[in-house]
Amino acid sequence: MNRILLLATALLAPLHARAALDVVTTTQGLAALAQEVGGERVKVQSLSRGIQDPHFVDANPTLAVKLRNADLLVDVGLDLEIGWLPPLVNQSRNPDIQPTGSRRFTAASVVSVLEVPRGPVDRSMGDLHPAGNPHFLSDPRCARKVAEGLARKLTSLDAGGAATYQKRLADFERRLDADEARWRAEWAPVRGRKVIPYHNSWIYFLDWAGLQGAGYLEPKPGVPPPPSHLAELVGVAKAQGVKAILVENFYDRKSADVVARHSGAKVMMLPGDVGGTPQAKSYEAWVDQLVQLVSGAVR
Ligand SMILES: [Zn+2]
Repeated sequence: MNRILLLATALLAPLHARAALDVVTTTQGLAALAQEVGGERVKVQSLSRGIQDPHFVDANPTLAVKLRNADLLVDVGLDLEIGWLPPLVNQSRNPDIQPTGSRRFTAASVVSVLEVPRGPVDRSMGDLHPAGNPHFLSDPRCARKVAEGLARKLTSLDAGGAATYQKRLADFERRLDADEARWRAEWAPVRGRKVIPYHNSWIYFLDWAGLQGAGYLEPKPGVPPPPSHLAELVGVAKAQGVKAILVENFYDRKSADVVARHSGAKVMMLPGDVGGTPQAKSYEAWVDQLVQLVSGAVR
């Protein structure tokens, strides 16, 4: 019996010689990129789901358990997760995933951040973007930077995987090249069209797509719109010929419907991240769906 067990163990051993790196991300979009680059060398879990508002995730203690043994924590940064990630990281008692730890990768550190405030920031107004706009991942140019940063970080933690990470990154970027050629063709006829997002979460995406924002449903990120603001937006939408109101599907669409009804703009409910709809299964599928929905709405 013992001999059989020993034999079985010996046969299985090579398969388990190297455990996959345990990667935990704060969002599903980051998880998708980590999986693209890491392949079978990583086991990726996301703390939040694409159907959730990433600013407000329940800091459930079970999430701290996932962080306890994490080999790498990947977060967005710019205070996107300020309301829920710091307590979880503290509870995890994993010193290496602290903000300056060797097993932490903050995606915002490798992208050109937009809307970085210049003067002092007044958080009393409930502004959710005190350090700059954290919603960059829907712009494929930013996603490339993040994937490249992830490849460097994974290589620093697992030098034996360097060739794998490089190859997978190159494959991903080649696929994005082909996607982007297709996406550019979708944007070409609608360049310059105007939209009003609910939350200030599409600035990078609109810049990439060549569309223009004409205001936001929220008077400030995180502040629900008062009726006076909606009335003002109806005027803006009519005057500027706004085609669509962009709303992540975790927000209530009522205020968007009000502006739409009085202005003729269309309300477009969008997946806020990978996993935000059943179709948005991968990074490419998510952006593909965004391109189809938004370009269709502004046509
Ligand atoms: Zn935000």
